[in-house]
Amino acid sequence: MAEYQVLARKYRPRKFSEILGQEALVQTLKNAIKYGRLAHAYLLSGSRGTGKTTTARIFAKALNCQNRGDDFEPCNECRSCKEITAGHSLDVLEIDGASHRGIEDIRQINDTAGYATSTGGYKIYIIDEVHMLTKEAFNALLKTLEEPPPRVLFFFATTEPHKLLPTILSRCQRFHLNRISHELIVSKLSEIARDLEINVEEEALRMIANLSDGGLRDAESLFDQIIAFHDESITAKTIASVLGVASKDILFELDRAGKEDNIAKAFEIVDTVYRQGKDIAHFVDTLIDHFRTILLMIISKGDAPYLSISESEKARYAESAKSYRKDQCLELLDTLVDAKQHIRFSSSPKIALEALLMRIIRSHRRIPVEFLTKRLHELESKLSSEDSAPPPTPRKNKGPSEVKPISSLSEDPQPQPQEIPEVKKKVERKPAAKVPKSAPPPPPSPQVEKIEEKKSKSRYDTLYQFAAVELEGTVERK
Ligand SMILES: [Zn+2]
Repeated sequence: MAEYQVLARKYRPRKFSEILGQEALVQTLKNAIKYGRLAHAYLLSGSRGTGKTTTARIFAKALNCQNRGDDFEPCNECRSCKEITAGHSLDVLEIDGASHRGIEDIRQINDTAGYATSTGGYKIYIIDEVHMLTKEAFNALLKTLEEPPPRVLFFFATTEPHKLLPTILSRCQRFHLNRISHELIVSKLSEIARDLEINVEEEALRMIANLSDGGLRDAESLFDQIIAFHDESITAKTIASVLGVASKDILFELDRAGKEDNIAKAFEIVDTVYRQGKDIAHFVDTLIDHFRTILLMIISKGDAPYLSISESEKARYAESAKSYRKDQCLELLDTLVDAKQHIRFSSSPKIALEALLMRIIRSHRRIPVEFLTKRLHELESKLSSEDSAPPPTPRKNKGPSEVKPISSLSEDPQPQPQEIPEVKKKVERKPAAKVPKSAPPPPPSPQVEKIEEKKSKSRYDTLYQFAAVELEGTVERK
């Protein structure tokens, strides 16, 4: 039986045309070969599994290939190509900067770089995770970069280019590799599945693409893991159980609970998540992704190019999106991002998660902040206009207990008199009741003081009542 090869290796691109999602970079490298405009050093940055070393290796192959095609593709058949693929080449050396980070390792490069290659091709050093090199190693490397011997090329790959010295950066041609789109990852995985004759649901592949966050190698490793577990066909449920992630059903249940104001559902969901041994931080990530999708559905009216969901999921999301508002989703996303940090360090993550889900469910009953501030402004201006305007009709003073209910505040046509007119006449010297702050206050009579106190108390009572009602969530949104 042949030795099992992991998917990432078995299906690793061997030609420029097989590199996924990095068209601009590939074109530049091909042009460099075409016009003989080679830099001494290339820096490839980008997140994990986006193809940095794979690209460097293909470029090295193309440069040294003994029968390169017209399209600048390596043949993958000649001795040089085969040696590079197998990692035996004496001319193309791959160094892992994470484990060979010292000055001695770099000295070896410097010592050998001067020797011509056996085939007359290029001597190429591919240093992976180059940011891990020690300072001394960097300085030693710099010497060679300053005066590189002829036909020597460096390829640096890094996930953290900001950790490199500016003197190194300035000597490199820099490229950033994009994260690979979900669509491309899904299509690559389905290709692999077809090749291996494995039956797999598209939604399952999308879940893997989602989890791998734009890194093809991660996606392939996850798929490896799934294949090792699968019996007949691979479904979204298989993925959920093997990778310990929550199935999407649970998220749609949460949406329904919000719509029906079913707080108890929070406990039920958390219980399921716990019983199935799901990772809590990961579950919060799933929630973040869920509300991002809903927000995109609302904004784009179901037609967002950034949505990576299958058609059947799209229908479910469209249904869920109906019960959310845009501002509500934005607020939930904020809350969830905060909660992710918080839950990780919480002494009782289960309770924290329950509280979080209850908050999500209750968010359907909450009044939007814009609406609240608008109401508060109305209330404030109403109160201050009552302060300055003379009361329309003499009426008995109203105590704080008679503050009107919130629902009728904004559209009440008749401002409520708050003072006894006879008293007011005595106090008033100018038409406006408001006294400038800098001016000395008129000598207060005990009666007036009492009224002022009542007035301000009434204002705060109103505001408090407003806030309390909002927090209880009992006011229906208009
Ligand atoms: Zn070749």
